[in-house]
Amino acid sequence: MRVLKKDYWKRFPQWADVSKWDWEDWKWQIRNRIRSLSQLEEILGIDLSHLKKVEKVFRTGTTPYYLSLVKDLSDLNNPILKQILPSCKEIDPQIQAEGSFDPFKEEVMSPVKGLTHRYPDRVLFRVTTFCSVYCRHCMRKRIFLEEERANRYEEYIRMIEYIRNNPIIKEVLISGGDPLTLPNRKLEFILEHLSRIEHVKIIRIGTRELVVNPYRFFDDGLLELLDRCDKLWIVTHFNHPDEVTDVVKKAVRNILSTGTPVLNQTVLLKGINDDPYIIEDLMRNLLQVKIKPYYLFYCDPTKGVMHFRTDIKRGIEILEHLRGKVSGMGIPVYAVDLPGGLGKVPLTPDYVLEETKEYLLLKSPEGKTVKINRLNFDIIDNHTKEQEDLCL
Ligand code: SF4
Repeated sequence: MRVLKKDYWKRFPQWADVSKWDWEDWKWQIRNRIRSLSQLEEILGIDLSHLKKVEKVFRTGTTPYYLSLVKDLSDLNNPILKQILPSCKEIDPQIQAEGSFDPFKEEVMSPVKGLTHRYPDRVLFRVTTFCSVYCRHCMRKRIFLEEERANRYEEYIRMIEYIRNNPIIKEVLISGGDPLTLPNRKLEFILEHLSRIEHVKIIRIGTRELVVNPYRFFDDGLLELLDRCDKLWIVTHFNHPDEVTDVVKKAVRNILSTGTPVLNQTVLLKGINDDPYIIEDLMRNLLQVKIKPYYLFYCDPTKGVMHFRTDIKRGIEILEHLRGKVSGMGIPVYAVDLPGGLGKVPLTPDYVLEETKEYLLLKSPEGKTVKINRLNFDIIDNHTKEQEDLCL
């Protein structure tokens, strides 16, 4: 696990005089975020003028904390930097031709502005278009094109009313932008109203603040809110083992002390984490800080993001690698979200090679084939792939 050493950020001349007190204040991180390529140019000390045309389409942003995770600032292929540094591929018409700004029809399946009702029992409740970091691979990249703004109270009230009037809704996913960039009083308003609706049993907050600004969870006001809302789950989004730091560990401890579980969704991203050993490290690091790996998503067909897509089979290969190496707790569900709002499909390696009324031929995590009696599970035959090839 990466350890964020004391005063680590002081290697940046811009923040050399920042006190620990300020650095660990989540609001300071947001106030002092990097919002332009020219700021990045200054920090990285390289010419990024060729990317200005990308910035005109998709905005740039990162917290100082997240940038401080980059080990070598001169390495533009660094997995952290690649998640925040614009690329010309984002606006290349050929690369992005097959992408859509709203592949899941979130805006179409929206009975009330800001709210998407795609599955019968769940709704997506979008509260802001603001994020403290603008991830280049964001599946909701269309928000980069809108102005940065939190919804107004009247808009929240209309969304809450819709949920109150539809008892079929059991679960609300609060998302954005990033909901945890909202001030506590707005969050309190939303959480209190949703919690009081009896048919809403689960409230999930989808946030990347734990990754890019974990000091958010050092805020007593927020922790008190989490403590009060017993329907709450936090779902976060770590993509690389370097993102799991000691600061994150402390933040998770704070969240768990409020009785709120923490799950993680990773997106499979070409050139960032499409490697079985990187995902293995990530899953181990997450478990170590008590975050349960939940989903590994195949990258969505979003315009501006298509260059991050791998072959769909890559995720299955990674899952095959994990099985037998990492405990079941650390193995996420690999899934593809079908375009057009048709839902998520889990993709798994094929462990059942053959099936009859009498037996099943299974593949073990070490690649052995095992034939078992279907009724009593007795092993009928058991040999490795190499032995099988020799027999042929
Ligand atoms: S924080 Fe989340 S919503 Fe914001 S840009 Fe990153 S992935 Fe998208």
